[in-house]
Amino acid sequence: MSLPVPLDQAFTYSLPLTLQHRVQAGTRVLVPFGTRKLTGVVLRAHDDSPETPLKEALRLIDAEPVLDEELLALARWISGYYCAPLGEVLRSMLPLATETRSGKIYSLTDAGRDASRQLSIQPEAEDTASRLVAMLAARPLSAATLKRKIPLADRALKSLRQRGWVEVEDVSSDRDPLRAHASKLRIELTPPESDNAEPSGKLTKAERELLAYLSLHPGTHNLAEIEASVPHANQAARPLARKHLVALTPEPLVIRDAPIRAPHDLNAAQRNAFDLIGAAVGARKFATFLLYGVTGSGKTEVYLNAIDAALGAGRSALMLVPEIALTPAVAGQFHARFGERVAILHSAFSGSERAGQWRRIRDGGASVVVATRSGVFAPVRNVGLIVVDEEHDSSYKQEETPRYHGRDVAIVRAQAAGACVVLGSATPSLESRYNASTGKYTLLELPDRIADRPMPSVRVVDMRQEFLETRKHSIFSRALIEAIRERLANNEQAMVLLNRRGFSTFVACRSCGARIECVNCSVTLTYHRRDRRLLCHYCGYAEKIPSECPKCQSEHVHFLGAGSERVEDELHGEFPEARIARLDRDTVAGKRQFENILSSFRERDFDILVGTQMIAKGHDIPNVTLVGVVSADVGIGMPDFRAAERTFQILTQVAGRAGRGDLPGMVYMQTINPDHYAIQFAARQDYAGFFEKELQFRRFMKYPPFAAMANVLVRAEKQEDALRMSTELGHAITPAPENIRVMGPAEAPVPRLKSEFRYQLLIKSGSRKDLNALLRRAQDFAHERKWSATALVIDVDPLTLL
Ligand code: ADP
Ligand code: ZN
Ligand code: ZN
Repeated sequence: MSLPVPLDQAFTYSLPLTLQHRVQAGTRVLVPFGTRKLTGVVLRAHDDSPETPLKEALRLIDAEPVLDEELLALARWISGYYCAPLGEVLRSMLPLATETRSGKIYSLTDAGRDASRQLSIQPEAEDTASRLVAMLAARPLSAATLKRKIPLADRALKSLRQRGWVEVEDVSSDRDPLRAHASKLRIELTPPESDNAEPSGKLTKAERELLAYLSLHPGTHNLAEIEASVPHANQAARPLARKHLVALTPEPLVIRDAPIRAPHDLNAAQRNAFDLIGAAVGARKFATFLLYGVTGSGKTEVYLNAIDAALGAGRSALMLVPEIALTPAVAGQFHARFGERVAILHSAFSGSERAGQWRRIRDGGASVVVATRSGVFAPVRNVGLIVVDEEHDSSYKQEETPRYHGRDVAIVRAQAAGACVVLGSATPSLESRYNASTGKYTLLELPDRIADRPMPSVRVVDMRQEFLETRKHSIFSRALIEAIRERLANNEQAMVLLNRRGFSTFVACRSCGARIECVNCSVTLTYHRRDRRLLCHYCGYAEKIPSECPKCQSEHVHFLGAGSERVEDELHGEFPEARIARLDRDTVAGKRQFENILSSFRERDFDILVGTQMIAKGHDIPNVTLVGVVSADVGIGMPDFRAAERTFQILTQVAGRAGRGDLPGMVYMQTINPDHYAIQFAARQDYAGFFEKELQFRRFMKYPPFAAMANVLVRAEKQEDALRMSTELGHAITPAPENIRVMGPAEAPVPRLKSEFRYQLLIKSGSRKDLNALLRRAQDFAHERKWSATALVIDVDPLTLL
């Protein structure tokens, strides 16, 4: 049995007699683990005699396996390739977490926030209530954490809630469908022949009444509505469900449909691409295609046809997208085309909604699945096609254990299933494009936009020159302002990108030069004006705005470097009549706000959309004729070998949002590095040129795709520990085999993060196998030395090195 703990081993439990013939590989079982109860996944049910007496499993959670052999095998592959404990891999594969962890999260209300600011409450305050407010001002905290830090928090929390300063949210409600709110659940009797029903034993009065009601009123009912007729139905429903006497399922989802539209007739390039994919899908053999199509070339239509072909061959299809909330139109198109057969695993859905969809897929109720990263584990039956849209997107890489890449997992899954993979992008990752050039993938090209629409024309604006001519440090060049003015006059729309959140990106003292840094991380704090706070973008730490320098007490504290919030603000100043919306992580804290902002912009409720890289992703909004990039330089100087690639991708993608309708598009890219090759190639929208140049650099430096790479991070609260441990680890894994280079240990680019010091070893290897063996050595070493589970982080094929 595998348990969700950071230990790379399986555990053995004995089964009570009642369970012995019902437990199979892939089912979940509740077991005792130390003082806790954990949900584990059964890897194997066997009669081998144990070496030591075994603890007994407590309860079977699923009547049928939640993971089939195919997915269990995929989990083993991920665990091996990414050096991640199998239990953690399995946990991240299942959206059905009946985790024992649950509880309340406390946070400040707006009133509480205002009060904490006006009274400038300090964390070191005497009374419990003030200390609580100060702590919550920094970030929302769980009940457990609060109790640990302030033992007598309960009473103070109660009075703060009565005062309306603190609110509480029950996070457990989202985790398990059985815990969802009654209004979101449907209830029905389980059929009597069902062999799941456990002997019912004693039932409470409410339970008996609920059963009686359900047998008198057959069919499914909304649980909240039954409450009117059967008192306490809600409380009674859950124990009955656990005894398998009733079934609780999430209410079906309501998805906004796109206008129904007949499929387009494919143009020649689309047809060409589809013919090859369709033939491969029909042949039922594993193959990977790279669909490289410029922005607006109609890749979606090719995907839809390929999915049709898979369905026609009697198989199912899985499509991965970076962020469904960002592409509501895609979900709509899928519904319009495939109707009831579509299931959407949407990251904005609650746990119970996801679990409901997940069950529907497993039970064969959906043959087309659209999902984000973790959807690569959707229990789709008989999968014949996996599409990975925007395959270059970094959201496919999970940045916590298991650190898998959804695109690469998709390929491995397809290989085992004899399915085809289509990777689509206007800016394919270096790795994928390289694989296409070596013949590992088949390259398919859509070189032109639909209906011969021109690519947008791009002008690079040298902001150094702009300064020389105007002697003003403005955010916008005169040319960009003029261009926006024109769009407003013509009732066309514009998008303005600045890939940095907040109002000012750092706060510095003019007298002593100090910059205000996070107390937990070695990064500067960002000023957020709407929240009236300085915020750390890495750990969420917040503090109030300083009136004087914390180092030298000078009053000359300056706010420097603009972020997206400031861009919005200045645009309001320049164009008071314009309707402006902003899309970044600060404006879309809530669940479905992405969709709301985007669809209002699409409906022309706004003239200008300001935002971070979120606005660069796949949107197809025909009335956008202008894209302004406030600073193309953001990210270029990052200490990361992918900095140029990422810059090229985001600039090309955002430029591609312009001119997708009947009117041509125009792009202004402001920069102080006008000669940088990433900016130059993006301005010419010359992917091939960029690919050649970048590939040379990678070959010369032996970076991926010319080497397999891993980032090994050592973390500790004390700097000397982190340094010592990483040095010891370095000795333990060197000398490495000849074809492996170990660089470091050295301080990570962000040396301190979330109160931990970080040292890293970068490993480049000519052989995957040797790399894997070396990483195993590192793991074993940490294990022997009894390092804490979080001290060693292994990131295979890292996307960022920060
Ligand atoms: P991409 O993803 O390649 O940037 P999309 O798939 O969003 O491009 O397609 C761009 C636009 O072209 C969409 O509005 C789509 O409906 C339209 N389109 C796609 N294929 C055709 C076609 N064969 N004929 C006409 N319009 C098409
Ligand atoms: Zn100072
Ligand atoms: Zn921080």
